[in-house]
Amino acid sequence: MESGHYSFISIVFCSIIALVLFFVLATSTACAEWEQNEVEVNSVYEVGPEVVHVTKEITFTNKDANTRYWQGFYSSLNYPLFQDHSNLSSYDDSSEVRLKRAENGGNYYMFAFNENVWYGDSYTFTLEYDVQTDPIYATFTIGEQSDSGNVKLIVPDNYEACLADVSYAKENLNDRVVYTFGNESFQEFPLRIDCVKTVDRVVASEVISLGGRNVNISVEYRKGNDEWAQEVLDKTVTYLPLLEDVWGVPFPGNSDLIIRESSVAETKGYHGFNYGNGTISLLHSAGDRVLIHELSHSWTHACNFEQLWMHEGYANLYTFLVLKQINPKKALAMKSELEEDYDKKEQHFAQALDGWSIPDEYSTSGSEMIGYGYSKSFVFVSDIYEKVGFERMQIANRKLLASGNVDTSDHISIIESISGKDFDQMYSNFV
Ligand SMILES: [Zn+2]
Repeated sequence: MESGHYSFISIVFCSIIALVLFFVLATSTACAEWEQNEVEVNSVYEVGPEVVHVTKEITFTNKDANTRYWQGFYSSLNYPLFQDHSNLSSYDDSSEVRLKRAENGGNYYMFAFNENVWYGDSYTFTLEYDVQTDPIYATFTIGEQSDSGNVKLIVPDNYEACLADVSYAKENLNDRVVYTFGNESFQEFPLRIDCVKTVDRVVASEVISLGGRNVNISVEYRKGNDEWAQEVLDKTVTYLPLLEDVWGVPFPGNSDLIIRESSVAETKGYHGFNYGNGTISLLHSAGDRVLIHELSHSWTHACNFEQLWMHEGYANLYTFLVLKQINPKKALAMKSELEEDYDKKEQHFAQALDGWSIPDEYSTSGSEMIGYGYSKSFVFVSDIYEKVGFERMQIANRKLLASGNVDTSDHISIIESISGKDFDQMYSNFV
């Protein structure tokens, strides 16, 4: 269970850092203590085919004591929009509200009020935009910055929604479900929303010969994603023999291998998951690197590694070696990404790899630590590989596979006996 994860998720969480930093500010003709002002935001996120339509009603209230007695007023609001969006528009009761991207303001837009907002007064306007999504997987984040208000999420009946562990009210209507979240649900981290269209699952399969026996590869996918499924099937058929070559060990898995197209909720926030029983969950948007990594776990499971660093270090080493053959540029990018991540974090975390674990469910707050373990495991196993050499590493792999459970002392003794070299120093640096 603990192995088979893949750590680097980017699609959903990329807005986090920006979100933590963001704040609402208004511009004023007065020298304003803007933080006293209040912004109420009531948002509606409506899931539709290939698009989530967002409507935000924003009420700005001038509570800035410096603008008392007609000493000044507010006439605009800088407000952030973090998602990639299209069809952005804003308006109030009577006319359009002019907007422009704030200068040097990153994701901020400046909304120019159609009236001056004096001390004690409020001004309400509405903004709307669309967020494009996959036709089947409507995965997006809800991030709000406001003092008050709530968020409604409207999900049609032909979608299934997986929501994070926050409180909400749920209302079942005729053809849709409406979820209402309080303002507090989004203050720290954006909330990931994962809606999957209800479609039949179908299977594409192919039998290939691996290590002299037939293995049936099945890709279970959601109807409509035929192209994706065929591509995953073709690639799996290509990558498995390449993995056999680099590992120096025939495919050790079952004679049935199932790869299941999955949503973010189904992979628990990771990019993929190899259950070790012949089933792999693969995120619908995952690339080659994830697929090879998860396939590689068929070997790490067969090795009965006791430590997670062995599973993840070997899976990534052999992903790198396969990528080097099919896409050298991607392989080098992967290597530098992991090495740089390790260099960056080692001083901060400085944790021995023995005992390193990751949560069942990927968590945004723990993402740095999760990534650190993956990077360190890769650097360690790569260093071993560099010192042992390709062929001797293969001999060691066959020995690891034949030796039942492998703990750290079993591992070092196999590596030292095959290579004839001393690894004490290296192991003490990492585990
Ligand atoms: Zn893994």
